[in-house]
Amino acid sequence: MNAGPAPTAEGAPAARPFDLQPVEVQSPAEVFADVLRAKIFSGELPPGSSLPPERVLVEQSRLGRATVRESLQMLKQQGLITTRVGRGGGSIVSRPSSEDLISALDVYAHSNGFGPEDPAFVETREIIEPWCAALAARRRSEADLAEMERWHQRTIDVLRDQGEYLRASQAWHLAVNSASGNSLVAALMHIGRDTQLRVADLRRYSTLAARKRSIEEHEAILEAIRAQRPTTAFELMAGHCAGQQNRPLLDRLDDEVATVSPDSE
Ligand SMILES: [Zn+2]
Repeated sequence: MNAGPAPTAEGAPAARPFDLQPVEVQSPAEVFADVLRAKIFSGELPPGSSLPPERVLVEQSRLGRATVRESLQMLKQQGLITTRVGRGGGSIVSRPSSEDLISALDVYAHSNGFGPEDPAFVETREIIEPWCAALAARRRSEADLAEMERWHQRTIDVLRDQGEYLRASQAWHLAVNSASGNSLVAALMHIGRDTQLRVADLRRYSTLAARKRSIEEHEAILEAIRAQRPTTAFELMAGHCAGQQNRPLLDRLDDEVATVSPDSE
């Protein structure tokens, strides 16, 4: 029987060989950006307030000018500060807009090679939009309802113009997402909206019949949201987003499981 490592003179087990992962060290600029971000997030530096001039930041942090500039650049890219140039210029604390978030997501999607017809886009939509419809059915304000109805009417008015129809239809979807009252989730659905509009939906709604069918589906979803029926809104939106896949995502997953029988190789 193995008694484990032999005790040393002091009675402690002998040291095992070290198994270390490489240690990641943040650059000074990243560390300083963290310090500034913490002050912004805690409210010590609220939106609209000015950061001390670069000279003061250099003095107080005892970092080099180039490092301080790099930190400021990081905050700027995140939409946390804006820079004014010239006399009286400097860095003003700002709040990132949902556009900043959307553009970051867009950059992520494009730089990681997600094309407009990528299944990941289709899935994202199927995962998010039914829930947005359900939430909208609970939370929509009168103003939200008016916005959804306005875009719905617009799709009917421009039915014969494919480009205009697609723009209005997308605006209707975004209005539903935003009526969910969850701006984080609603922002997610803006990813790739321009490229999607150009490629995938153009193919999908190229016929008048397809556009008419889509309008009918929108009408039914809108009715469920109007009547504050979350489950119905969810199911109808799931079916609608499944589109040319014919069956909602959850049903397709069930199908996949069913086709892989236990004795198949
Ligand atoms: Zn639609």
